[in-house]
Amino acid sequence: MDSWAGHEVPRLPGRGGPLMLFDSARQGVAASTPTGTGTMYVCGITPYDATHLGHAATMITFDLVQRVWRDAGLDVTYVQNVTDIDDPLLERAARDGEDWKVLAMRETALFREDMVALRIIPPAHYVGAVESIPDIAERVLTLVKEEAAYRIDDGTGDVYFDISAAPRFGYESNLGREQMLEIFPERGGDPDRAGKRDPLDPLLWRSARADEPSWPGGGLGPGRPGWHIECAVIALNLLGHRIDVQGGGNDLIFPHHECSAAHAELLTGQSPFAQHYVHAGMIGLAGEKMSKSRGNLVFVSRLRADRVDPMAVRLALMSGHYRSDRSWNDDLLVTAQKRLDRWRRAAAAPSGPSARTFLAAFRERLADDLDSPGALTLADSWADAALVGTGDDQAAPALFARAVDALLGVRL
Ligand code: ZN
Repeated sequence: MDSWAGHEVPRLPGRGGPLMLFDSARQGVAASTPTGTGTMYVCGITPYDATHLGHAATMITFDLVQRVWRDAGLDVTYVQNVTDIDDPLLERAARDGEDWKVLAMRETALFREDMVALRIIPPAHYVGAVESIPDIAERVLTLVKEEAAYRIDDGTGDVYFDISAAPRFGYESNLGREQMLEIFPERGGDPDRAGKRDPLDPLLWRSARADEPSWPGGGLGPGRPGWHIECAVIALNLLGHRIDVQGGGNDLIFPHHECSAAHAELLTGQSPFAQHYVHAGMIGLAGEKMSKSRGNLVFVSRLRADRVDPMAVRLALMSGHYRSDRSWNDDLLVTAQKRLDRWRRAAAAPSGPSARTFLAAFRERLADDLDSPGALTLADSWADAALVGTGDDQAAPALFARAVDALLGVRL
């Protein structure tokens, strides 16, 4: 699948330090330690609706990871998927009387446009579930052969993963069984499906149904893949056995990332699947989580149509820390637009305080678990000083603009 268009990322003098990141599995901050190339897999959209601000906040988070890694001198191999076949997509298409393929293509195209507008560095591989089906089927068959998966004996032939085959199940989310049982059905799980060995066993392969699309599955028979195995296989096939960061919104901690890790670890015999499991907070509106079921989504494309500067949207989302669940409101956007204007004026000033000092502190903030609020405050201080004529570094305004562009993805 085609990714979106990239843009030039300015190079900065010197080099940033190693990125410290919070890991959900270890429940603490630890240095990310890629050697030469940082590898990152981020769970992408299921394209049945437009990109909302929650998606944007997640994509910006991992864009910052990529920017800080690059600034530290690493190459980055970034993979993102598109779940272009799954129940929500089929349900929405049926509701609207639309072909699911047309819906998926249209929303994926819109997502790409939003990513370009927000200046998200594109992944090296942007991969659809549909195009990965032969690889996924092969891996599911391997899990069946290794007795880590089984068929439901009710005539459907659906294949489930046996979580008892994964001794570390639960290490990624740190959830107890009771909590897992509570969350599982809220996030696509089917604990009550008859014939499962454990209510928490996730679907690997849904055998063909008369009214649903299906694909050849080799020894599995025709059908379509489950969501967790989709991500595990795409990540393993493109990034190999070392994945530095597995990312997504914090609603993916369980069951999605727990199950993907369990699948991948059985397939490779190596644990952990990812060195860091990194999760972005949810964006709420008026105190509620932004979600399709609540109908309170703010779409990036809507803001763009209203002539809102995407750089202000980006700044508004980065004004809170990536890990915190936070609320969106119009004031946030007004503040971000004012900040953007101030920074733009400062970048056009004849001189300012030492940009090298600013750059060192700025890098330090972002390398500290992507402290974007801290970085924004530093940039504010520099801009305010430059605007009142403090400092005589004539190269500083240009370097300020380059640093903000390279590290925050904000073009002034
Ligand atoms: Zn995923």
